[in-house]
Amino acid sequence: MYAIAIHGGAGELPRPALSAAQEALYRGGLASALDLGYEVLERGGTSLDAVTAAVGALEDNPLFNAGRGAALTREGTAELDAAIMEGGQQRAGAVAAVRHVKSPIELARRVMEKSRHVLLVGAGAEEFALEEGLTLVPNAYFRTPERRAELDALRSGRTASELVPSPQGTVGAVARDAQGNLAAATSTGGMAHKRTGRVGDSPIIGAGTYARNGVCAVSATGHGEYFMRIVAAHHICAAVEYRGLTLQAALRETLARLGELGGSGGLISVDGAGRIAMDFTTQGMFRAVRDSAGLRQIAL
Ligand code: ASP
Repeated sequence: MYAIAIHGGAGELPRPALSAAQEALYRGGLASALDLGYEVLERGGTSLDAVTAAVGALEDNPLFNAGRGAALTREGTAELDAAIMEGGQQRAGAVAAVRHVKSPIELARRVMEKSRHVLLVGAGAEEFALEEGLTLVPNAYFRTPERRAELDALRSGRTASELVPSPQGTVGAVARDAQGNLAAATSTGGMAHKRTGRVGDSPIIGAGTYARNGVCAVSATGHGEYFMRIVAAHHICAAVEYRGLTLQAALRETLARLGELGGSGGLISVDGAGRIAMDFTTQGMFRAVRDSAGLRQIAL
């Protein structure tokens, strides 16, 4: 069986705050990213290509907190983090605090495939992007009016949800291809109003992103500091591999631990057989799933 799941962030979203028109936009964005990734799998492509395609589409969509539409730092700039991992050789690539790379997930993949490293940050990551011929854009490309309003609200001490009808909006994907290979990818602008130089869980292998063939692939969203402290994504795969937990039970346990520490968020995952599990402790998580057994669901 081949399968893909994606998320578009978890957060505090009072449902009535989202108008029918806005809800349709979010659902449409999720649906097109989901189907783009699924079509890769359907054509016999790899899970790595499927998660790259799905996350790339969500980065380009200004509704989500990744690529264009990223949450802003205290200074009002966009600083982007992303990671990708494949479950066979467990190769991984990640970038953090980049300001000019149009598609951070594409750069993360280049780091994995074309460099000897796993994680590149800031200026060094952007130098590598230049060498690789990736598209670089002015920082203003990422900054939308909605994200500026969100930042203004946070600066003035109001909660962002009073103004902006979106959860945090980080994006991610996990997939299993027909050959049984697992992959995970995550991309984000991080937390709104973060300090310059702050790096979250998304680009930290084992925290927000992880994949191991035969076991599971995971992408996280939520308060990154907590996911890092409990090495959430790796913890889930270890619980499945060493303690025989079902993926669903491993997600619950991990979110419960996160909650004990004061954190909240959501997780999407796929196991070695292509079964998807998703869970969250926030009010909502934008998510979608599709598999070769005919399942296709989009939920907020
Ligand atoms: N986990 C991301 C971070 O802390 C944010 C999010 O998922 O919304 O950078």
